[in-house]
Amino acid sequence: MKILCEAGLQVCAVNSGPRIDPDVDYRGHRQVYDLKYRGYGDPVRLKGKAHQEPYSVEESEYSEGRDLFEHDVAYSNAPGTDWYWKRCKATGGKANFWGRSSARFGDIDFKAADLDGFGENWPVDYAEIAPWFSKAERYMGVASTIQNRPSNPDGEYLPPIPLRCIDYIIQKGSEKIGVPYLPDRCAQLTVAHNEHPACHYCGNCSRGCDVGSFFSPTWFTIPEAEATKNLTLLTNALVRSVLVDVNGRARGVAYVDRKSKREVEVYGKVVVLAASCVETAHIMLNSKSRHWPTGIANSSGELGKNLCEHLYGNPGYGYLPQLLGQPATPDNIADSTVAWMPRWQNVKNPHEEKFIRGYSVYMGGGCGDFPGYYGQLEGFGSKFKRDIKRYYPTTIGALIQAPTLPSPNNYVDIDPEKKDIFGIPQLRFHFQWGQNELLMWEHSKQVMIDLFKAMGGELWGAGEEPDRPGTSLHETGVCRFGNDPKRYVTNKWAQTHDVPNLYICDASIFPNCTDKTTTMPIVAFTMRTCDHMLDNFKKSVHVRA
Ligand SMILES: Cc1cc2nc3c(=O)[nH]c(=O)nc-3n(C[C@H](O)[C@H](O)[C@H](O)COP(=O)(O)OP(=O)(O)OC[C@H]3O[C@@H](n4cnc5c(N)ncnc54)[C@H](O)[C@@H]3O)c2cc1C
Ligand code: SF4
Repeated sequence: MKILCEAGLQVCAVNSGPRIDPDVDYRGHRQVYDLKYRGYGDPVRLKGKAHQEPYSVEESEYSEGRDLFEHDVAYSNAPGTDWYWKRCKATGGKANFWGRSSARFGDIDFKAADLDGFGENWPVDYAEIAPWFSKAERYMGVASTIQNRPSNPDGEYLPPIPLRCIDYIIQKGSEKIGVPYLPDRCAQLTVAHNEHPACHYCGNCSRGCDVGSFFSPTWFTIPEAEATKNLTLLTNALVRSVLVDVNGRARGVAYVDRKSKREVEVYGKVVVLAASCVETAHIMLNSKSRHWPTGIANSSGELGKNLCEHLYGNPGYGYLPQLLGQPATPDNIADSTVAWMPRWQNVKNPHEEKFIRGYSVYMGGGCGDFPGYYGQLEGFGSKFKRDIKRYYPTTIGALIQAPTLPSPNNYVDIDPEKKDIFGIPQLRFHFQWGQNELLMWEHSKQVMIDLFKAMGGELWGAGEEPDRPGTSLHETGVCRFGNDPKRYVTNKWAQTHDVPNLYICDASIFPNCTDKTTTMPIVAFTMRTCDHMLDNFKKSVHVRA
């Protein structure tokens, strides 16, 4: 929106939920005892909703105020699938609450198929996309260090977030077992940047930032687009399909006004879908017409296919006895991806391990706002409280981020029978973990056993199984990009092969996931797509209204 509006185009942005207002919607600076339900939120708030589970960290009494999360639009899971589809319907989407980890993809990702023989290379290589990663990093503000890691190209960084006490101990242990432990690439402002203030480390980022010290559309792109006066922002407008003209080209979108439940149409010379990966495929699969009987721009039959996800789970948690009795430190960055273990497996040789590709690990802990380890301790009453305090500076836990490989079993389609309350046919998930990522999961548990030993820690346990698929919120695929119109939904500019005035700006174009997160790359690829689109306007491929 920002790039197109600043170039002088009139943009109509259609968003399914309300406009977020940080003054009203974020309560990050309050204490739990200031909140009626002690931070957990009204237990009956979701009664009668299609999707009744509250979403984990981000949806709580700190941000539940104005119905920011999607609970009305139902979805289905095919038998044997347990997908957990978390959605923020407010303007700015999930990036209001994201974890901010922002590593670059590299040729080890783009050309993985050449290296290990599985799947397909991406239609771009590092040399081509690197300048866009730089543009995205310069705009967003990403804190990190230069690390010269083969799996993680370095970028343009603000000073890193200082390591916590636990990080120094983990780093020493990691060195002993040959695993890197380094500052993550984190889109959090360690210094003031592009007129946004430096972070004051209140530590509540997953509930939204009150001052805009990490990248989010709420504080960055939306106000900048609005400042051009070229943006019309429609809210509570749930897009159900892309409209086409007599030639099958995109003509606009049809949306349901959530309040009146009436269907409305808006028209444009170009349509851009950026509804967050699977929802983009949902809209396209529901955009059936004489020209596109199986969904718009689906002549390849690949729409909805190649769904990939990060396997998330806790491969090890425990505490560091050497920190018992130490005073608590102001670790209110405990909520940040301060440091991580960037991929170290299959780096020199693609077949070093029993699995192909590789995974990364984040380590959490330190003196955070809430003692999340309470469930690991037994006891009752004042002894229990004393124990909680005793362990306060010492506990740590790991989070594995392991990419799945594209599989014919993993895809989304339209449920033939079910519709949501707006009458829109529901999206249906088909997804199973594959053997490759399950091998990574087992590998990471052994790494944690070795790490805790090496750093003198005590391992309390590990997650019995990975988190539910969908938990990571880094799903990719379903509209994969590539050069051959018979096998890919969009070209390498994210312009659909079949419908040249329909573009896609989210992670659905990425053919698979990697050991890194997706948001900074989504921003980088989107910036590149916008420049390509503007070029197409200049060349009169698209005609201005
Ligand atoms: C707690 C948490 C931690 C995370 N940590 C990280 C991290 O460390 N690093 C990282 O890279 N990513 C992380 N993510 C994921 C990150 O937030 C997403 O990758 C990113 O927000 C995706 O951007 P998007 O614009 O594609 O989708 P979204 O942010 O979901 O935005 C989609 C927008 O489209 C709108 N929309 C959807 N459907 C429709 C429709 N039918 N009609 C109209 N509008 C519609 C929604 O209202 C929303 O505003 C995290 C997310 C969360 C919640
Ligand atoms: S820790 Fe920093 S970035 Fe996070 S919410 Fe607080 S001020 Fe914002």
